[in-house]
Amino acid sequence: MDKNKKTPQNKLPTPKFGSQIAIAILIFIGITLAYSLLSTPAEKIKSLTIGDVATGVNAGTIEKIEVSGSDVSILFKDKTKGETKKELENSMSETLTRYGVTADKLALTPIEVKTESGFVYWLMNILPFLLPVLLIGFFLWMMTRQAKGQGMQAFTFGQSKARITNPDDKKNKVTFKDVAGAKEAKQELEEIVDFLKNPKKFLDIGAQIPKGVLLTGHPGTGKTLLARAVAGEAEVPFFHLSGSEFVEMFVGVGASRVRDLFKMAKKASPSIVFIDEIDAVGRVRGTGVGGGNDEREQTLNQILVEMDGFEPTEKVIVMAATNRSDVLDPALLRPGRFDRRVTLDLPDRSDREAILTIHARKKPFAEDVNLKVIAERTPGFSGADLYSLMNESAILAAREERKTVAQMDLVRSIEKVMMGPERKSHLLSKAEKEITAYHEAGHALVASVLPYADPVHKVSIVSRGRAGGYTLKLPLEDRKLQSKKEFLDDIAMSLGGYVAEEMVLGDITTGPSNDLQVATNLARAMVTRWGMSDTIGPIALESDGGQTLFGRGVNDKEYSEKMSAVIDGEVKKIMDDALDVARKVLTEKRHILDAIAKKLIEVETLEQDEYNKIIIEHGITPKMKDPEIIKA
Ligand code: ADP
Ligand code: MG
Ligand code: ZN
Repeated sequence: MDKNKKTPQNKLPTPKFGSQIAIAILIFIGITLAYSLLSTPAEKIKSLTIGDVATGVNAGTIEKIEVSGSDVSILFKDKTKGETKKELENSMSETLTRYGVTADKLALTPIEVKTESGFVYWLMNILPFLLPVLLIGFFLWMMTRQAKGQGMQAFTFGQSKARITNPDDKKNKVTFKDVAGAKEAKQELEEIVDFLKNPKKFLDIGAQIPKGVLLTGHPGTGKTLLARAVAGEAEVPFFHLSGSEFVEMFVGVGASRVRDLFKMAKKASPSIVFIDEIDAVGRVRGTGVGGGNDEREQTLNQILVEMDGFEPTEKVIVMAATNRSDVLDPALLRPGRFDRRVTLDLPDRSDREAILTIHARKKPFAEDVNLKVIAERTPGFSGADLYSLMNESAILAAREERKTVAQMDLVRSIEKVMMGPERKSHLLSKAEKEITAYHEAGHALVASVLPYADPVHKVSIVSRGRAGGYTLKLPLEDRKLQSKKEFLDDIAMSLGGYVAEEMVLGDITTGPSNDLQVATNLARAMVTRWGMSDTIGPIALESDGGQTLFGRGVNDKEYSEKMSAVIDGEVKKIMDDALDVARKVLTEKRHILDAIAKKLIEVETLEQDEYNKIIIEHGITPKMKDPEIIKA
């Protein structure tokens, strides 16, 4: 385990690489200078021939001769110096004798012979070769140090990169208390917690404990959070790695990371291994577009091997999370692997309130804050959305220099999270403003008139995110089931903008393109998935996941070309009918459309009660929501 923690010295700030090179170059220049200075003699030395030396000896002008190897240096009586070379194998006196120096003259001149086996001599000879080697070594050393400092992966190859949360880490500890709602999921996981806490109880009675738990659900529903909470409740080490981190940079690393991860987890057992976003490695094998991805498959195989390889007594539980369980390889879901499945749904009203309450814990609130109302207004929000709503509201309050968060901040944040920030800078021309106003008024009016459409909650022509304007509708309650009639009215409402533009402008802009997409998708799903077409009847022609590019291939339709044509016909029929409905509503109630659009051009945003006032004046009863919501 320790090898995975960074040692402190790796974390020390290292100076910039560039400046290190500069320093090294300076040192290098310094050494070279010193070297050449030392070896350059201070006084001038004449180079002589042996003949010159012989003449000098004969003339008696030489005070001393020093011989070291083949080098001969001569000191003259007038203190000048000279040097020359002799053959190595002959001694100095022999050489001089051959040049005609007489024995008695030779006797007058002392010849000093230095032995050359000394350490300094060797050093002086080797240094010119040694120095570059030393310098290169120094550079290499510095570079590896640098690389380690940045956690370079080339050197940590294969080692699992799991993040570990130890049970005694109080700061990062998460328990079930931090996860609001998700009651069924928590109940399922209680069992796992119990096993990790007292494995003996289960093993004694011969119970098989599941090896793998797969958490599925929409993004942001708290899968990662819940997995941490299981570890926190059970007080065991938690090894956390994301699917995409297995497959990185080097081929073949994925499988060895898996091996390391499981080895570490076994050593620390009882423990939890958590593979987040497992769909990154766990997609159906062998059908990838463009020949598949071997690296991914090997990683997946290794996960399967590891899961099969450990005994139930090993007390390691593997958890995984994905929001695409439909693309997972069936081998992962086989008994003995991820055979437990826990699904996290989007939170319902009371769960949303509970989640808001959890994230409100550390925020100072004004008196008027009512989280119940906010929960009512946020159907379809995930836990992560609610978290970011809370955060946005605190930012809003802080930006306006207030010390507490008010209800209004929360309400404004709902739209921000839903649609992106308002784009106040995006100014519409007068003509654009009119078109947008009619477009949105068209949506709103169709929604108010048709019996099964959701009530209008807000209409605005201030652009937000990518939308030019928007009409917010609010479902009367959170629903799991929707009916055909509701879908038909929804489609008609989506086409309301298109129809209004057509009526007023006599032309169509690009404005409704998104509306058309939404409506068409809905119509297609009604026909192919929910059996809501009379001609085709109750056959599911496409599965819930829709078409997936990787994993299942793009063109494996589950029906024939002929059926395909029938489907297109049915979709067209639904769209045409909805278009007729929208046209009829808006033509009959053109005066109300004008009234709403006029008001919108004037004030730009109509809240629910302002909007309701206009339609009531014209004799339409607005659909009522909970009185509390209207108050807010
Ligand atoms: P997922 O892994 O399902 O995409 P996360 O677990 O990462 O979602 O959730 C993101 C954040 O949303 C969490 O850190 C938490 O702040 C918040 N959140 C989501 N669900 C809940 C919940 N049930 N209770 C409290 N907070 C939640
Ligand atoms: Mg997650
Ligand atoms: Zn629209």
